[in-house]
Amino acid sequence: MDRLAHRDPITAVSVIATGAGEGHYEHVYGTRKPSYWWVFFGRRWLRLPINVYVIAHQDGVVLFDAGMDPAVETDADYWPDPITAFFMRHIFRWHIGPDDSLSVQLERAGYSAAMVVKAVISHLHSDHVGGIAEIPQAELFTAAEGFAYMRGPHHPERHMVLRERTEIPGAKWRMIPFEPNDDPALEPFTEKFDLMGDGSLVVVPTPGHLAGSVSMLVRRNSAPPLLLVGDLTYAEELLYRDQFPAIGDKKLLADSFAKVRALKKHLPDLVILPAHDLLAEQKLRAAAGHLRQGN
Ligand SMILES: [Zn+2]
Repeated sequence: MDRLAHRDPITAVSVIATGAGEGHYEHVYGTRKPSYWWVFFGRRWLRLPINVYVIAHQDGVVLFDAGMDPAVETDADYWPDPITAFFMRHIFRWHIGPDDSLSVQLERAGYSAAMVVKAVISHLHSDHVGGIAEIPQAELFTAAEGFAYMRGPHHPERHMVLRERTEIPGAKWRMIPFEPNDDPALEPFTEKFDLMGDGSLVVVPTPGHLAGSVSMLVRRNSAPPLLLVGDLTYAEELLYRDQFPAIGDKKLLADSFAKVRALKKHLPDLVILPAHDLLAEQKLRAAAGHLRQGN
């Protein structure tokens, strides 16, 4: 491919981790057992990174997700009430040090928090919005359904959606204005949102994990396309064999999985990157093309 013919608006894509979390095996790989069983009696734990994808675009740095807040380890009042704190102790174990904040990790990758112009938040679980206080200048894009759920009456805090840590003063939340999709390359998705207005970063709805879950397609001229899928799955291979995690709406997940697989048919070199992908760094390096990779 001729690198000089088309200047790529995206100059680098890298991944940083805001620490790690351990979850139950059943949570990640799914189970027929009822949730109370694995939450309280599951004995196999998996340690997964809490990734943030960092895209250097000619108009500024764009993030996909904002990671976990180190306050979960240091602030006894991180969870808003004792019931939530009790359940969360049984569902997750955190490994997040002071250097795992979004700002420190961005610096280590060669950026700064002040350079971030936009962040797309895949969904509102608290391990995806943890760094938003560190990027107050950035526009934060998320789906309106997720916000409606967070403001709703069904105890979202017990499902790890913390309104007081999401609707923080000054945060520039923007509801994603989806439009009908007119791009055959994105079929079978019927809606899309062109984040930068140049087609390089396109958000599509991928419901199932949590209300308003979205994914983002990263299109580059001389490197394979990437699909950042948030928590739609925890590992790419599970998506190919319709293996659902324990959390989420199975019908919606099945529909979103099928759409992602269909997209991969149009774009055979598509690289799928979950938010907690253990292999993210290797996969990005392999898919770098001519682009410079961070780290
Ligand atoms: Zn999640």
